[in-house]
Formats: sequence, structure tokens, C-alpha cells
Amino acid sequence: MILTTEALVLRTMKYSESSLIATLFTRDHGKISLLAKGARRKTRPFGSSVEVMNHVCAVIYHKSQRELQLLTQCDLVKRYPVLVEDLSRMGIGMTAVELLHLSTEHDEPHPEVFDLTVNLFQTLQSATQRYKNALYTYEVRLLGLLGFKPSLRQCVSCREDLSSFRTAMPQGRLRVTGNGVLCERCGERSDMGVVISSAACAALESFQNSEGIEASLRVVVTQEMSRDIEETLRHLVQVHLTGMRPLMSERVFSRIQ
Ligand SMILES: [Zn+2]
Repeated sequence: MILTTEALVLRTMKYSESSLIATLFTRDHGKISLLAKGARRKTRPFGSSVEVMNHVCAVIYHKSQRELQLLTQCDLVKRYPVLVEDLSRMGIGMTAVELLHLSTEHDEPHPEVFDLTVNLFQTLQSATQRYKNALYTYEVRLLGLLGFKPSLRQCVSCREDLSSFRTAMPQGRLRVTGNGVLCERCGERSDMGVVISSAACAALESFQNSEGIEASLRVVVTQEMSRDIEETLRHLVQVHLTGMRPLMSERVFSRIQ
């Protein structure tokens, strides 16, 4: 079967002097690993399209019983230069592709996750500040799209609405477990998960519900809130997406930022 689909390049690995093994996250067919014969030559049929974080249009010769598919054509749709040239934005892009790689199965389509990732790259390309808000928004939405949307407004145990508590006590501390936030009363009976301030919880909920990732760049997040949001997202991502494995890209880029 010949598949023609938009895709993001997640990973490439040298296979021989001239060929690569690449993993693409395709819009219509999910993650696919494939052999790109001649891709290291930078000439036709691929040019320099098969590079990590490029948005491409791929033609794939696909056999269902085969683990490694064959890339027959690949055209660049869009390259995002800041993801290569600016270290902090590169760190965010690398975190996103690593997360996608770890949290999705081969041949399982998630077109809305593909669109979210393209939205992240576009936002980073034009953003001038608060890049980390884009990553927070990406991660909290990715969790939702993959079936693990955390409840951030209602207590996951007693269902109490916490919005008035959050407004009245911005420095109040709330416990967050894998499914979402607990009210003060329910939180006292638990030692699971992590603790987040009311203000940080409200910001994270606004990211979960904002119109597109670029809208999150308008939200002011203090350093304390940022620390809480990062710890909460790391917990949720490890519980649901990466099986408690720390992200390699996060370790590398935390030393740079
Ligand atoms: Zn409760």
C-alpha cells in the first residue's frame, strides 16, 4: 500500500553510508519507522527534508506485517529555523518530539496530536517571550488528547469546585495526583502526587482551555508558579506517558536554560 501523508520527523539514525532509519509521526497513520535509502546524500529524492522537527509530506511504501517501512518520497512542507538556532526553543521542540515518540504506538493515528505539535512549532517560531508557557500548554493538552486529561477545577475525590478557593487563596497549596487536583480536605488524607499553589493550578487550567498555544504566551507566570507547574506536569507525564522515565531532552536542556 502506498501512503501519502503529512508528517513530523521525530528521530533519525544512521543506517549506512547513504541511508537513514527515521521515525515519522504521520498525521493520518500515527508513528511509523522507516528506511530512507539515500537520505544522507542530501540529493533527490529527499533533499534535506529528513531532519528532526521538519514538517514534511511523505510517500511511504507500507506493508502491514513489516516493522520497518520504506520511504519513497519526502518533500519539505515547513522547517522551523528557531528550533535549530535558539537553544531554549530547541529544548522545547526536542522535549515535544521525545514525548511523542515515547507516548504513541506505531500505526495508531492521532491527527489532533499532530495538529497540536504543528501549532507548538509555529508558536515557537514566532514567539518573542514566555516560551515555556507553550511547552506547559502542549504537555497538558497532550495528556488530554491521549485520554489522561487531569481535572484541575474540581476535586477528583469529592468533586468540590475549587475555583472560588483558588481566587480567595492564591498561595493555598493543593495536592495533585495522576487524575488531577484534590481539595484541601481530601488532600490532607493523601500523600500521593505533588503539591501545587492555587495560582499555578489556575494558570495550568487556563493553558488546558486556551484557544491555541499562542494564547498561553499572554499569561504571566512567576518563577514559583513555574516551578510548581513543571513539577506537576513532570509527575503527570511520568505517570501516564513515559512510565516514570525522565525525559532525556529535559535533562540535557535544564543545564542550558
Ligand atoms: Zn475533595
